[in-house]
Amino acid sequence: MAAARLNRLFKLKPLLASPPTTLLHPLIRRGFCAAALDSDDDVRFFGGLSHNPTFSIRRDPKERSVQWVFLGCPGVGKGTYASRLSHLLGVPHIATGDLVREELSSSGPLSEQLAGIVNQGKLVSDEIIISLLSKRIENGEAKGESGFILDGFPRTIRQSEILERVTDIDLVINLKLREDILIEKCLGRRMCSQCGGNFNVASIDIKGENGKPPICMAPLLPPPNCASKLITRADDTEEVVKERLRIYNDMSQPVEEFYRRRGKLLEFDLPGGIPESWPKLLQALNIEEHDDKQSLAA
Ligand code: AMP
Repeated sequence: MAAARLNRLFKLKPLLASPPTTLLHPLIRRGFCAAALDSDDDVRFFGGLSHNPTFSIRRDPKERSVQWVFLGCPGVGKGTYASRLSHLLGVPHIATGDLVREELSSSGPLSEQLAGIVNQGKLVSDEIIISLLSKRIENGEAKGESGFILDGFPRTIRQSEILERVTDIDLVINLKLREDILIEKCLGRRMCSQCGGNFNVASIDIKGENGKPPICMAPLLPPPNCASKLITRADDTEEVVKERLRIYNDMSQPVEEFYRRRGKLLEFDLPGGIPESWPKLLQALNIEEHDDKQSLAA
């Protein structure tokens, strides 16, 4: 099955779809030269696939939906901004953490194995993650989805290399925030057990010092009907969050350099909460919201 799913990942065919926005960022306009595939060893290693993938997927970025990646430490807000952009651009937001949690909450064969890894803040194996991702892309493709905003993948150099071999990533947005705030935000994270909505009860108000600007982030409180159904992720304890940050610095920070060297990395320091950061992020991406989408920035 893994081979078949990975096979589908290779065949991912971006379709023409104009986003309801004006995209002007130079990284988006430039187009990307695909690295020549000289071996499918990685593919055999992870999926047992033994054929040479075709690369018709490497189309001119102007003729297909965006293929973006969000990088950043746990708690930085990748999910929040990836989800907003996905609505705005009309492309799916694919968070590998969500795929892992779905698998965890199922009674599937992987569930028990994953719980031990995730609850300790460790990374799941590349093989499992790629299998879950391939399945998600396959299902989306069957529903007519095109393009994607990836959140939480790639997280290792190995994953980045595999992704680079199977498709073109147009842009990688690296969200950044101070580590003490990241910890507070992870500890304040809540989810509605019924609707799956994400909230945050942390109220960040840090004064500027040593030339650093002040930073305020208001809590993102749930509506009354979710308030009594809030749950905390098992991996959002202080000990596990610190371990996840350590693993990010070890395993995932090199991914930033991987994309920096390829000229695809857009660094974005979050200036505050959603009301301050969202318009600035759109500005950095040179995205103009149309009037009918203005409510997204509210
Ligand atoms: P997240 O919601 O992105 O913080 O992910 C939750 C957990 O899922 C992580 O701590 C990892 O255990 C696992 N996970 C998510 N994405 C990946 C990935 N790309 N590689 C390995 N493990 C992952």
